[in-house]
Amino acid sequence: MTMQSVAPRAKRILMVGAPGAGKGTQADAIAKQFGITHIASGDILRRHIAEATTIGRTVEDLVNKGELVPDAVIMDMLRKPVLAAADTGGYVLDGFPRTVEQAEAAYRTAGNLGVGVQIAVHLEVPEEELIRRMLARARGADDTEDVIRHRIKVYEEKTRPLLEYYAQRELLVQVNGARPVAEVTWSIVVQLQRAFKRPATQAGAHAGPHAGTARPATTSDSDKAVA
Ligand code: AMP
Repeated sequence: MTMQSVAPRAKRILMVGAPGAGKGTQADAIAKQFGITHIASGDILRRHIAEATTIGRTVEDLVNKGELVPDAVIMDMLRKPVLAAADTGGYVLDGFPRTVEQAEAAYRTAGNLGVGVQIAVHLEVPEEELIRRMLARARGADDTEDVIRHRIKVYEEKTRPLLEYYAQRELLVQVNGARPVAEVTWSIVVQLQRAFKRPATQAGAHAGPHAGTARPATTSDSDKAVA
């Protein structure tokens, strides 16, 4: 890929998917591929909990129960790493936004930063596969079967509506995440490369609820449309 083929703006990629969908693994691969920063809200929260910081003590109970932590905590916590990453090429956010309210706030921040291309990647994985994966990796107090099922329910109620939000406003890339890791990565990278080559308005650079010229676009794996 030549430099000319990539929009010379910060890239802003948002990973959307249920717990266990592979957001972290794929975000890592995407960050390496495009030379941008991987920022994972759940990892930062777990670090705060492990270090018993003020944020950690505030959120521990909610995280352990599989509930979302308050938007204000998340926005404050992410501001610094997002600003730093925006200055160095961009970022792939994993675990944020998780609600339409968070997406709206993030959109305003991105606009203020002059951040260019914004693309949401949706990893679709069937529920039973999510539960199987989560039990296999059992990471901590939020990984018992009851909590896992609750986290998936929270995702369906609070986060899935984001897909419609992004499909309406910006570019949404749909990916079948129930395949081997490398295949999923390949599928995402190919679609992102295609999206980065588009003129800015079509890639979502100026897309938004009030952007009259932007044309929302949705792309998906050729083998399985999950929209
Ligand atoms: P994750 O590792 O992304 O699955 O996140 C683990 C937990 O951290 C979630 O179950 C929530 O309790 C909390 N969390 C992570 N990101 C967010 C967010 N953007 N908004 C609210 N809570 C979050």
